Amino acid sequence: MTVITGSMFSGKTEELIRRVRRALYARRRVQVFKHALDTRSERAVIRSHNGVLHEARAVASSDELLSAVEPQTDLVAIEEVQFFDGRLVEVLDGLADGGYDVIAAGLDMDFRGRPFGPVPALLARADEVVKLRAICARCGREASRSQRLIDGRPAPASAPTILVGAQESYEARCRHCHEVPGEPQVP
Ligand code: ZN
Repeated sequence: MTVITGSMFSGKTEELIRRVRRALYARRRVQVFKHALDTRSERAVIRSHNGVLHEARAVASSDELLSAVEPQTDLVAIEEVQFFDGRLVEVLDGLADGGYDVIAAGLDMDFRGRPFGPVPALLARADEVVKLRAICARCGREASRSQRLIDGRPAPASAPTILVGAQESYEARCRHCHEVPGEPQVP
């Protein structure tokens, strides 16, 4: 099991698609999944920031993912794993034990810099971890954090996940430029 992680804009999807393409080139059978979240249709695509596309199937839970995996598949690739429930760890570990190659990609931290959903536990169970970094939008150094901006200002730790009527955006930042008003600082 391989986990590809890092901040937003670090190239996780690109790396996932690169590995999927290599597997397909080697004539291996691949299934690509992503979390359904707000996707209504079962058919979906994964898209890297540089515009590379690959077809994916949207699933709403780790159990739905498990039941959609076909026995003849060689490689199971999953995008946006941070949105899945906690059972994902068990499901992916089970697939890997059952002989499937598993590649999971997702954010390791949320916009507050806190561990995101099932990803920390996945990282612990992974055979291979690929942690990618972006470039800090402020200072140009290596960036590991995702900065959330609401109406151009750093989003406070208490900001709701979904905001109505506000202009929201994200950029990559290094730990020194990452700002989360209201988040307690460790001295
Ligand atoms: Zn910086």
